[in-house]
Amino acid sequence: MTTSLFHGGTILTVDQHDRVLADGWVAVRDGRITATGPRETRPDPAGFDDIIDLTGRLVMPGLVNAHTHSVMVLFRGRSEGQSLLTMEGWYNSIREPELSLESRDIGPAVTLSCAEMVLSGTTTFCDQYFFAEEIAAAVKPTGLRAVIAYGIVQLGDAARGAEELAKAKAFLTQQRSADGKIIPWFGPHAPYVDNTEALLLEEVAVAREHGVGLHMHMAAGPEDNEETMRRYGLTATQALDRAGFFAGRVHIAHCLDLAPEDIEIFANHDGVSVAYCASAGLRSGRKGICPAVTLRQKGVTVALGTDNVAANNSYDMVSEMRVAGLVASHREGRAQPLSSRDLIRMATIDGARALGLDHEIGSLEPGKSADIIAIDLTQPGYSETPDPETLLVYSGSGRDVQHVWIAGEQLVRDGRLTRRNYNEIRAAYSATYTDFWARVAAARNLNKDVA
Ligand SMILES: [Zn+2]
Repeated sequence: MTTSLFHGGTILTVDQHDRVLADGWVAVRDGRITATGPRETRPDPAGFDDIIDLTGRLVMPGLVNAHTHSVMVLFRGRSEGQSLLTMEGWYNSIREPELSLESRDIGPAVTLSCAEMVLSGTTTFCDQYFFAEEIAAAVKPTGLRAVIAYGIVQLGDAARGAEELAKAKAFLTQQRSADGKIIPWFGPHAPYVDNTEALLLEEVAVAREHGVGLHMHMAAGPEDNEETMRRYGLTATQALDRAGFFAGRVHIAHCLDLAPEDIEIFANHDGVSVAYCASAGLRSGRKGICPAVTLRQKGVTVALGTDNVAANNSYDMVSEMRVAGLVASHREGRAQPLSSRDLIRMATIDGARALGLDHEIGSLEPGKSADIIAIDLTQPGYSETPDPETLLVYSGSGRDVQHVWIAGEQLVRDGRLTRRNYNEIRAAYSATYTDFWARVAAARNLNKDVA
């Protein structure tokens, strides 16, 4: 049994009362929080194995990045000037080179992404991609917590759909890690684009049977509704609802174009949540903006995500909170309809709720896993303020994250990874990056010769 006492910092508990404890404390035993409180109730440090002085730090639950594709760090800076939320932009800058991806590329890319995430305060992320087994294998040694949604692509081929579903089922049973940090889900890319309605419904049934969710993109642009409008005169959300798709847990990224009826459908289903990816949405040039304020008012859980780093181009969830807040102000035409407190909840407890993990993470409360981060407020850019939440959201940066613990294990100490050397991770990644893009270039030359 190991006991630790974290004390001295300004603690954002993100509990149901949003208690902020100036000079507070958190007690941890065997990776779980046992108690928190203000200075005057601090227990005797002599009763603890480790005493961690966090004076001058902002202490809070680890951040939850509710939508990304960690392999796609390989595409960073490779799709500038392209809209990744249109079919054409996605195909040109992502899909075509993606055909050259091999399983050996996955580990080094995912490991670098995990390093960037945890170094900037993300302790849990929701990933959606192909190569889900390789992703899970790469995440495990990093110590991060991840929902990994197995990307199912059918592309009009029924036999392929059945084969993919069988593989995805095996993934659900095999990849759930004993420590509960790897959580396998299903991840159809987008409805009607690459999965038929029948396959989607089968996926919902299997996911419910296994007690997991589905993570997908929806309403990233008006053309996402074209197929169902043509077939049924309904938006994709309405068509899926009619088929019974939202019966289980469904976590949906983007939602830039939702009809009022679509929002009602989300509000009427407890298992539906939205990943608001403000930076990726803005960067895409699409006119729509996720109606995060309305969705929240209707009771829909809205989390925050960076999306892939070809579309962002960073995993910094502190900056994502800021952009999400700024965009909401612009969309609603009034100052800060999402408060800093709202944004912090969206990046922690609401992200946890969207992933079905709010009993385990997302706030600093007794019984929850000790997923804790400390931000160094002695760095330039921070100064006295009555509002530490706004200090973080509007003056802060993920680069000032100093310490990170997941399930009580310190994974970042003084801005450095504890399990592996960052330079080694980066060197392995750089070799993979060079090799991958050389293969893409060779494939392009071959195609040119054929043409
Ligand atoms: Zn995405």
